[in-house]
Amino acid sequence: MPGGHAVVSIENLRVPASDMLGDAGEGFKYAQIRLSPARLSHCMRWLGSCIRAQEIASDYACRRMAFSKPLIDHEGVGFMLAENMIDLKQAELMIDWAAGVLDTGSLGTVESSMAKVAVSEALMRIADKCVQVMGGTGVSGDTIVEQVFREVRAFRIYDGPTEVHKWSLAKKIKRAHRDQAGQ
Ligand SMILES: Cc1cc2nc3c(=O)[nH]c(=O)nc-3n(C[C@H](O)[C@H](O)[C@H](O)COP(=O)(O)OP(=O)(O)OC[C@H]3O[C@@H](n4cnc5c(N)ncnc54)[C@H](O)[C@@H]3O)c2cc1C
Repeated sequence: MPGGHAVVSIENLRVPASDMLGDAGEGFKYAQIRLSPARLSHCMRWLGSCIRAQEIASDYACRRMAFSKPLIDHEGVGFMLAENMIDLKQAELMIDWAAGVLDTGSLGTVESSMAKVAVSEALMRIADKCVQVMGGTGVSGDTIVEQVFREVRAFRIYDGPTEVHKWSLAKKIKRAHRDQAGQ
């Protein structure tokens, strides 16, 4: 991905009715339809990247010797890779579950929010541990681990920051409580 951040200013734009996509006032709804599957595709591609980062970090830890034994035999390092293994599987299952809901034809807004938060947070933990296991090499450009770490960091922000998804889920919990109380 190229770096930088574009800012586009639009002033006095008039779009003729013949050029309008969909119906007036429906833009937010259309965006929501696209967002659930789009979030899941980000989850999938970054899961794949983190699986690769874990392979690279595991290879490093099994070959690199420190204090007469491979790094992986130092519990602090072995545990980081073990925790990554658990997080990777949980992320995969969460994606499978949310994709299954979308396959039923549902918009899956709640499920995709839950999956996006859980997966992006897990992938961040994984990428961070991969960097840590690899020491200085982890933050160098010698492997893709450094790039995965940078990309996954941004994923906690775009397609809805973690806090915004939690805020939206909390609103739904409150609405459900109000509806139940009203019965
Ligand atoms: C790499 C990258 C790619 C992107 N790609 C796209 C794209 O393709 N299309 C697109 O439309 N946008 C894209 N974005 C924009 C992205 O969706 C926004 O950056 C994101 O929604 C956060 O908005 P903001 O940057 O204005 O942060 P702000 O709205 O200023 O929020 C800053 C922080 O405040 C907190 N926060 C905000 N609102 C709440 C709330 N309601 N409750 C609790 N906490 C809150 C969160 O922690 C958030 O991270 C991209 C961003 C990045 C970094």
